[in-house]
Amino acid sequence: MKLLLHMCCGPCSCYPVKVLREEGIEPVGYFFNPNIHPYKEWEQRLVTAKEFAQKVHMEIHVDENYMLRDFLKKALPAEEIPNGRCRMCYSWRLEQTASFAAENGFDAFSSTLFYSIYQQHELMRETAEFFARTYGVRFHYEDFRPGWQEGIDISHELELYRQPYCGCIFSEEERYSKALRKQRRKEAKAKKRARLGEENRNASVERMG
Ligand code: SF4
Repeated sequence: MKLLLHMCCGPCSCYPVKVLREEGIEPVGYFFNPNIHPYKEWEQRLVTAKEFAQKVHMEIHVDENYMLRDFLKKALPAEEIPNGRCRMCYSWRLEQTASFAAENGFDAFSSTLFYSIYQQHELMRETAEFFARTYGVRFHYEDFRPGWQEGIDISHELELYRQPYCGCIFSEEERYSKALRKQRRKEAKAKKRARLGEENRNASVERMG
């Protein structure tokens, strides 16, 4: 099977490539990540993806365009909708991968995003399946998450750069801003209080009934 493997970065590719090869599939890497900012970080991840491919002797295609402005045009309106930004981000990357796979004669596509324990796995799976149908190319689903630690170990052995945040400037802020973390904790507590209040009200209504 000719499989196009979208690579979100070098370290996340370690385990999926190992497993696919054990299954007799030789993946071809595809780096397309308009969600990574700022420029130096995007460049570092691109260089690391190429370094990984070279170290494990894997063919790779890369999109060398840095697309901060295009990303922001899509992300800012999406921020208004709960979970909208990540939904848009998964869609963009998986659609581009499906489209590239179809145009270039691949039988199937997958993504190293399915290795991450931090991403929304089921949402990405539905999204990939949708674009597989749209572009007439198979989505090769595998849950690579059980190999999380093994992937980290391999990335250390290969001496790959490991990034400290998901990718976009929003996630960079979420990772480093103490004020934002404090605000998120406050919001979570307020939600919990509201939920408990609702449960208590329902319990009293039931008792009265
Ligand atoms: S947090 Fe990660 S998945 Fe969500 S929009 Fe940013 S880069 Fe994409």
